Amino acid sequence: MKLFTIFGDPVSHSRSPLMHNSVFKAYQIDACYTRTHLADGASLRDVFFAKALSGANVTVPHKEVAYAVCDEVRGIAQHIGAVNTLVLENGRLIGYNTDADGFMAALQSFGTLANALIIGAGGTARALATVLRQNGITPTIVNRSENRLDYFKANDFLAYSWGNFPLTTYDVIINTTSAGLADEELPLSSSLLSELFSRATCAVDVIYGKTTPFLREVQKAKLPYKDGSNMLLEQGVLANHLFMDGTIPLDALRETMSKSFSL
Ligand code: NDP
Repeated sequence: MKLFTIFGDPVSHSRSPLMHNSVFKAYQIDACYTRTHLADGASLRDVFFAKALSGANVTVPHKEVAYAVCDEVRGIAQHIGAVNTLVLENGRLIGYNTDADGFMAALQSFGTLANALIIGAGGTARALATVLRQNGITPTIVNRSENRLDYFKANDFLAYSWGNFPLTTYDVIINTTSAGLADEELPLSSSLLSELFSRATCAVDVIYGKTTPFLREVQKAKLPYKDGSNMLLEQGVLANHLFMDGTIPLDALRETMSKSFSL
């Protein structure tokens, strides 16, 4: 039996096991996908091999560590510096990032956008900034702490901490922080958010499965929005395609996984 898991802290909220196991069941694949709570990211590689895994996903806060422990990193993950999908290939740990393309697929329904404000500067923010720029949407990053901005500045992104970012018009406001994931916090002050929402066309929270304080503010401003469910589905489809070495077509994976959302 092939074993897969998702590493994270927290991880109990993750829908990934449901999504991937629904594919294994539908296609009678002898495989199982579990959750692994990992507090210490430094042990990620050792735990991967100790559990004899064939592949894994990585979530908050270990995506940058995952990038660092791979034997090889492929595709957009090389630019992002963060990995959310690990695949064992001939005994070597190969890293990918499927969050980026998953997010772009989810953003399509909002139509043409010129620029974006990304709140947060973690692994997800890196993925989104990179893929937005590749798709002609100019991202600006705003983060609580200054020290996480180095990657963005080094890669010529507009990146600011809370105190000094330009309050101008951004078409889409995106929360990539973990504020609201396991607490009731806003990623930016309520007054700043309402000013930003009054000028924006739409908003996205990458957190899924709950109405976060951020999304409650979006609802008050009556903006079109999405939570992270669509992105979750799309990144999962792409990850499973890598796990199964492309044997199941993407459309078939999407159909099976999306049904698991209503379970
Ligand atoms: P990281 O740990 O790498 O980064 C977290 C970011 O959140 C940091 O910038 C941090 O700021 C900021 N932050 C945390 N708490 C607060 C707070 N109270 N106020 C303001 N900023 C805060 O996380 P990831 O990038 O890996 O993941 C971020 C979120 O995205 C998670 O909630 C995760 O579940 C979700 N996600 C959803 C996906 C989907 O498919 N829908 C895919 C990927 C991620 P600082 O630097 O100041 O600490």
